[in-house]
Amino acid sequence: MKTRVISITDPLKQEKEIMEAAQLIRSGEVVAFPTETVYGLGANALDSRAVGRIFEAKGRPGDNPLIIHIHDVSEWSRLAENIPKQAYLLADRFWPGPLTMILNKTRLVPMGVTAGLDTVGVRMPAHPVAIKLISLSRVPIAAPSANISGRPSPTLAQHVVEDMDGRIPLILDGGRTDIGVESTVLDLTGSVPLVLRPGGVTVEMLQSIVGQVRIHPNVMKPLREGQRVRSPGMKYTHYAPNAPVTLVRGNLHRQVTYINTEACKGEREGYRAGILATDQTISHYQTGIRLSMGDRRQPAELAGNLFLRLREFDGLNVDFILAEGVDEKGEGLAVMNRIARAAGFHIIDL
Ligand code: AMP
Ligand code: MG
Repeated sequence: MKTRVISITDPLKQEKEIMEAAQLIRSGEVVAFPTETVYGLGANALDSRAVGRIFEAKGRPGDNPLIIHIHDVSEWSRLAENIPKQAYLLADRFWPGPLTMILNKTRLVPMGVTAGLDTVGVRMPAHPVAIKLISLSRVPIAAPSANISGRPSPTLAQHVVEDMDGRIPLILDGGRTDIGVESTVLDLTGSVPLVLRPGGVTVEMLQSIVGQVRIHPNVMKPLREGQRVRSPGMKYTHYAPNAPVTLVRGNLHRQVTYINTEACKGEREGYRAGILATDQTISHYQTGIRLSMGDRRQPAELAGNLFLRLREFDGLNVDFILAEGVDEKGEGLAVMNRIARAAGFHIIDL
């Protein structure tokens, strides 16, 4: 299959191009499109066969459910049942935006989308191309991140080309995605809202609307052998560049010393180190390929650069990657969750 890439710089003036993508969605095809979080791989959420093609294109395990994207709150009640007042309050404040809410599904939602679960995750994206695509398609769009399963999520159309060329007919290129990490996933089926995946809508922001919020213990810890999971995505390795990653946490001075020592040791043995640093520390390293995620006082900036840097390391042929830890406040929790998973929870605490 030949994959075409169409650049969309002005969604209002390029309705014709987006309509082409919408027609593909309506005919059961898979199309990649930009959202404000990362690029998504979309198909008609109400068409089981179309949804099956997403799993095929990504090589995604069949038990990992997809998020459904809508362009209008009125669509929500067709997909989810017994939507509580709290959920509408959250939608009011954070939609369109990077918040996915998990509720019981209606019968309209095919089991393929929810991977057999009786709950469904729904969100309204904030990117003008995504909104236009959903409204022109006139169907809700199921979409995971547009990467091969296990790889870092795409924040540029070029990343989607790297992973999806020849697998899908069309990629809409809307430039670099703004937030850079996937949506916050919030489970509202229990008595207290539970964060299954931290993202652009931070725990602090959620608390300001609903008060008490819990964070799932496996956000920063690996699953135990045989443990049952609330969110199947937690079971799998994610966001991993080609080289193995080690996350180094704790006192910042010690982090820098540890990373310097390990990088030098590696180089002496003939291995090329990659160092995922921050603006504050990058000049303190003496060896290795050094890339900065940005200013550690600006967690949103770190989130915006993280996947880009992880993919850059692939092009630089490093043999192993040492990643600095950052504060788990605000968007910092999402950054740490993604690095910990990219590292397969190989974490050094100092
Ligand atoms: P992705 O779209 O690739 O970012 O992955 C979607 C994430 O949302 C995965 O981690 C899923 O496990 C999670 N998710 C989607 N739907 C549900 C659901 N009904 N219940 C729990 N987690 C979900
Ligand atoms: Mg993903």
